[in-house]
Amino acid sequence: MSTKWRMNWSADFGGATFEQDADMRRLTTIGVGGPADVLARPADAGSLAGLLKRASEFEIPVRIIGGGSNLLVADDGVRGLVIALDSEPFQRMEFSGTKVFAGAGARLQALASKCAARGLSGMEGLAGIPGTVGGALRGNAGGNYGVIGNAARSVLCMDRGGEILVLKAKECGFGYRSSSLRNFVILGAEFELSPADQEDITLRTRAVLQEKMKSQPLNERSAGCFFKNPPDKAAGWMIERMGFKGRRVGGAMVSQLHANFILNVGGAACGDIVMLAREIRKRAKIEFGADLELEVETWGIPEEAWAWR
Ligand SMILES: Cc1cc2nc3c(=O)[nH]c(=O)nc-3n(C[C@H](O)[C@H](O)[C@H](O)COP(=O)(O)OP(=O)(O)OC[C@H]3O[C@@H](n4cnc5c(N)ncnc54)[C@H](O)[C@@H]3O)c2cc1C
Repeated sequence: MSTKWRMNWSADFGGATFEQDADMRRLTTIGVGGPADVLARPADAGSLAGLLKRASEFEIPVRIIGGGSNLLVADDGVRGLVIALDSEPFQRMEFSGTKVFAGAGARLQALASKCAARGLSGMEGLAGIPGTVGGALRGNAGGNYGVIGNAARSVLCMDRGGEILVLKAKECGFGYRSSSLRNFVILGAEFELSPADQEDITLRTRAVLQEKMKSQPLNERSAGCFFKNPPDKAAGWMIERMGFKGRRVGGAMVSQLHANFILNVGGAACGDIVMLAREIRKRAKIEFGADLELEVETWGIPEEAWAWR
């Protein structure tokens, strides 16, 4: 490990806490990956700005982690600083009429339940999606029943120099599992919801959740859908047709319930998952002419690892 990553991080960062060689297996839902050099938990936005400025001054790579539910981390871990926005100020939710501001560190499901309890509709389609508001905005999380970008009015961000800015939703480039927020730290967002009967919201939420429970392995260790759907066919359908359901490499296995989920069924290494995913991409190209793009975010895995030619 380079000594510059080992600098005295505890000095003068307004109450931030630090952990060296943080185990990424416990910070991600799929539970694989080597350690992060330094995991930092800033106490508030001022403390975060101090960290970002110091990292930028010393050219230390910075990554932000939310709930780790869309992340695959290399077995060698990640160099530099991983920042978690899980202290209280980053989790605040403030309601005002039909609007709510939610901090990036707030759990998406906590936000959805609070909205439902206040008779505010607009989050029901996100039922069952783990992780935080920040991670959901970054990847425009959602599915057939709606995406988070539809409810967002504006997003509060910090740039890598510690400056705060507000982007209108139309400036965030929300697309299919994507946004243009890649270069920012998302601090939170304001959402506009519609008043509705509380019971109706609860019923709709339950219906979405039941549908997902039937078709997705929500209680197993995964990073959600592994590949994006190509324009003409669902990735899961293709993977199932190619006979991959139940296929294993080490502790990694293609889900029997939904073929676009790769599971850690016990002691998987990131390398097992990559090997299985590479084989799927290869077969999809040969059998369907499809180039399967990753939906999961990857940290520390070189591009060549996915190449199968
Ligand atoms: C069982 C299961 C079901 C799922 N179902 C769905 C689904 O139906 N639809 C769907 O879209 N996704 C789904 N996912 C994937 C995942 O839950 C979502 O993508 C979620 O929104 C990721 O949020 P997170 O906080 O866990 O992000 P993380 O996994 O922590 O991070 C994802 C990316 O966002 C970045 N990021 C996180 N927080 C911030 C921030 N504050 N500022 C800047 N960048 C940030 C990270 O750097 C990383 O690049 C599912 C996952 C699982 C495990």
